[in-house]
Amino acid sequence: MSKRDIKNSICRPFCKFFREGEKEDMECRGAMVIERLMTGILKPEDLPKTGRDPSLREKRSRLIFEKVCRKCEFIKDGCDFQSTNPPDEAEPCGGYILISLLFEKKLLRSSDLKEAIIE
Ligand code: SF4
Repeated sequence: MSKRDIKNSICRPFCKFFREGEKEDMECRGAMVIERLMTGILKPEDLPKTGRDPSLREKRSRLIFEKVCRKCEFIKDGCDFQSTNPPDEAEPCGGYILISLLFEKKLLRSSDLKEAIIE
């Protein structure tokens, strides 16, 4: 998946933090994991095109936290959603949303996520 594909498939449709034309030095780990999944388990047509889900706040996934967020560069001081005391309106990044949607649609299993982990 090229950087452009990542922007078009993950950041632009799903991430409220994406700013058109702004260069981001760090990449969220959610996007990195999706990128890795696209080299095997997932096909481009599997990716939902839309679907930000406001109920995600109620559905914090321990698995996604452990396998994706814990080693994300943004978790130290850039991600309110995964902070120890998250504000009510905190939202996850597009990668997290997309991974959640793929679980909901049964296109991803927890074992798939374990295989896609970048240590
Ligand atoms: S939800 Fe936050 S910590 Fe988790 S992958 Fe996204 S930016 Fe990183």
